[in-house]
Amino acid sequence: DPQQVRLSAEILRTLEQAGHTACWVGGCVRDELIGRPVNDMDIATSARPEEVAELFARTVPTGIEHGTMTVVMEKIPFEVTTFRTETDYKDFRRPEEVTFVRSLDEDLRRRDFTMNAIARLPDGSFIDPYDGRMDLEQGVIRCVGDARERFREDALRMLRGVRFASVFDFELESKTWEALIELRGNMKHIAAERIRAELEKMVSGPRPADGVRLLARSGLLAHAKIRLTPEMLGAVKLEALDALRGKPEELRWAALLDGLGIPGEEAEQALKSWTFSGSFAKSVSALLRIDELMGEARQKGEQRAKLVFVRCVLDFGRASVGNWISYRCSIADDRPASLEGETLWLKEIPVESVRELALGGHDVVAHLDRKPGSWLGLLIRRLLEEVALGHVPNEREALLAEIVRIEAGAEAET
Ligand code: ATP
Ligand code: MG
Repeated sequence: DPQQVRLSAEILRTLEQAGHTACWVGGCVRDELIGRPVNDMDIATSARPEEVAELFARTVPTGIEHGTMTVVMEKIPFEVTTFRTETDYKDFRRPEEVTFVRSLDEDLRRRDFTMNAIARLPDGSFIDPYDGRMDLEQGVIRCVGDARERFREDALRMLRGVRFASVFDFELESKTWEALIELRGNMKHIAAERIRAELEKMVSGPRPADGVRLLARSGLLAHAKIRLTPEMLGAVKLEALDALRGKPEELRWAALLDGLGIPGEEAEQALKSWTFSGSFAKSVSALLRIDELMGEARQKGEQRAKLVFVRCVLDFGRASVGNWISYRCSIADDRPASLEGETLWLKEIPVESVRELALGGHDVVAHLDRKPGSWLGLLIRRLLEEVALGHVPNEREALLAEIVRIEAGAEAET
């Protein structure tokens, strides 16, 4: 985005003119070098947060304990982070406190991989003490300095390494891989949230299936808060993950859970323990439940399939069933890929909840002259299914007649 480049260059210039060192660093430099779209322009500087705040009209202290000041220019936020070292690693996690330093070299030294330790100065020149550009060219992921030391400091770096390997289609350099295998048990100290963030980037990248395979091969998540063992991946198909590129996040996580052999019933709990929101977890779990129910029903013929389909719409909602259709259409496996019938059914279903029925519970009670009880809910549900199936029009008179018919024990068509 040229506006972001221009504005971030302006920030660098302002910092330089005030006598500080300032540069682009990390992900944005790396992504630009390999021609990927750059999301955020991370800026690093020798200026202390309070010095940054003094130089710009609008600043927000978004991560002051890590030295990050957000500078807002033309409504666009830019993270400006003071050069720092991280010394006091505890429990294999990133430290809570950092030490500000004045030199860029010291700041680059604490970064995880050579390709993430490249800085670009406002004049366009690179500061690249670890030959990150060469590793980028050769597609190699290599730790800055001693791999075992870097992974021992912060275990998440191992997962980041696997994620980068998957997203960029790079190789982990041999010492880096060996250190990872040696220290992978430390992943148990890492919070589920941080693991999830990496998994999300992997699952939405261009080669999610390869990524999951590499993860399984590394054994990295076998002891982590989000578990994933090589055995779990045994015979499962992960191609579905690749087929779902660009589709909504729900679909990709459904494919991942399905690939891991986690059934719909357990998916909600699993995703919540992976720190996903309740509504996201519910929606993925609904998708998998529908897939299971419909897979079974379709083997029993069209009539059964339609009944189960309609029940799914009533139980899980139109949106979830729509998600399922697009999920099934995207992934090619043993089940037929064309869901024209289902797509049409979804379009034609006249009602989706009891509130839409042309008659309410009290109408039923009055018409049959019976005391309300558990029979009422069952009867209304039955009525709703009949209307949803298109067997009975959603009109008061027709519904009253249907109630009498059901109550009389007449055989309803199934
Ligand atoms: P992306 O934003 O594409 O996910 P990134 O490399 O930019 O990847 P960020 O989390 O945005 O990742 O971090 C920015 C930079 O901070 C990295 O490029 C790296 O230099 C450094 N960094 C991030 N996480 C760590 C870590 N756990 N250990 C060491 N350095 C890190
Ligand atoms: Mg980044």
